Amino acid sequence: MRGVWVAVLAAVYLLHGLSGQSCAKILAAPWPQQAGAPSEGEANPAPKRWYKGNLHTHSLWSDGDDFPEMIVDWYRERGYHFLAMSDHNILSEGEKWISLTEVEKRGGKQAFPRYQARFPADWIEMEGTPETGSKVRLQPLSKIQAAFEIPGKFLLIPSEEITDKGVHINATNIGEVLQPQGGASFVDMVRNNLRAVAEQAERTGRDILPSLNHPNLSDRGLSAEELAWLLENRFFEVWNGVEGDGDLGSVKRHSLERMWDITTTLRLTQYNAPPMYGLATDDSHNYHGNQKAKPGRGWIQVRAESLSTQAILDAMRAGDFYSSTGVELTELAFDPVTRRLSIAIRPDGEAQFTTRFIGTRKNYDTSTTARLDPATGEVVPGILDYSAELGEVLAVVEGLRAEYQCTGDELYVRAEVTSSEAPEFPTTESPVQKCWTQPYAWQVGPAAPRGDGPDVPGRERSGKAEPTLHLNRSGLGD
Ligand SMILES: [Zn+2]
Ligand SMILES: [Zn+2]
Repeated sequence: MRGVWVAVLAAVYLLHGLSGQSCAKILAAPWPQQAGAPSEGEANPAPKRWYKGNLHTHSLWSDGDDFPEMIVDWYRERGYHFLAMSDHNILSEGEKWISLTEVEKRGGKQAFPRYQARFPADWIEMEGTPETGSKVRLQPLSKIQAAFEIPGKFLLIPSEEITDKGVHINATNIGEVLQPQGGASFVDMVRNNLRAVAEQAERTGRDILPSLNHPNLSDRGLSAEELAWLLENRFFEVWNGVEGDGDLGSVKRHSLERMWDITTTLRLTQYNAPPMYGLATDDSHNYHGNQKAKPGRGWIQVRAESLSTQAILDAMRAGDFYSSTGVELTELAFDPVTRRLSIAIRPDGEAQFTTRFIGTRKNYDTSTTARLDPATGEVVPGILDYSAELGEVLAVVEGLRAEYQCTGDELYVRAEVTSSEAPEFPTTESPVQKCWTQPYAWQVGPAAPRGDGPDVPGRERSGKAEPTLHLNRSGLGD
């Protein structure tokens, strides 16, 4: 047993990811190998460790209800290692002033006094008078970074939530504000905005990581098939902390976990493309009385060589992270030789843990059925139901350690761990703590993506794959 773990750790340490390569090279190689895959190169790479962070946060810079440095302070005090402030269609730079009336309207009577109590008078910039209307300056990210960042301990990453009607995409580490690009359909909107992000990254030499947010925010969002078909999108929120944003699905929508299994299966079988990686985020807006979008509900744990933006993004692109609403892993490894996925869970008092290994087998039942609305008996447009063999529970393990031995007939395997305990900040959509690993044990061949866009009742077909895509990487397990 010990020998196996030494081998696994050696494989993990040998993983060189994409660090050290130029941004141009990163852009030219959009499908990096997944964590755990053996690679050549560095003899003594730095040991990796886990960093906890939230990449989806709002402040008074857009529609949040608190000052950005109050929010940053909250996360840092609670042991987060990194945080991205991702306000809607804006970067927190330059001058922006807000009236105290507006602060009170958003955050209540205590919002400004709390700010005054936490920060010294010479930090808070005011203008105007109570008679003419007092205003307070929203501090730019650069000033907050200078005050709050601690090398190796706490990092602030610039971000923008590109908000294009129903399509919201976080552009983590974006350098220039990007206006929503629009489009005739949801697919077009996602594609146009991702293209604009890629163009900025290429032009500026800056690595930007786009991720699709809360696919179920509206009943009219992207279908699972469309999401599968947007091959250039590699990250999505499998859990978003906003109460009532559809994580669990509805008559008209698959749950986000189900959507993940559908998209992963379709990508691997229909499109010769790697799966999306799933994020949990807060999408926090409310830091006072309102319970709808509180901080501390969902985060990612990233295994990186150091606490730098590039190291975090490299590890995420390599799939070396998991998402959580409370469950913490002390070990996570897929051994490409033995093809065993192993996890260990940090004990938490009396909590009981259940691990479900979920995946789709290569010979799964591919049949689909239209969904009928039980209330009307009519076909629900934009959704197809798949057989229970897609995304089936392959094994269930109780306790602090869980292993799944692949038999070779799985398209992929991922793990979900559920605790018996409630999260610190629960929602009706997440009454118990969970964590989600990324999909493992998948592989895609060297060919270009194939096939036309999905054919879903009530939807236009989505057209051919993006001609610029190169599927020149194989996934874990080669
Ligand atoms: Zn959003
Ligand atoms: Zn948001």
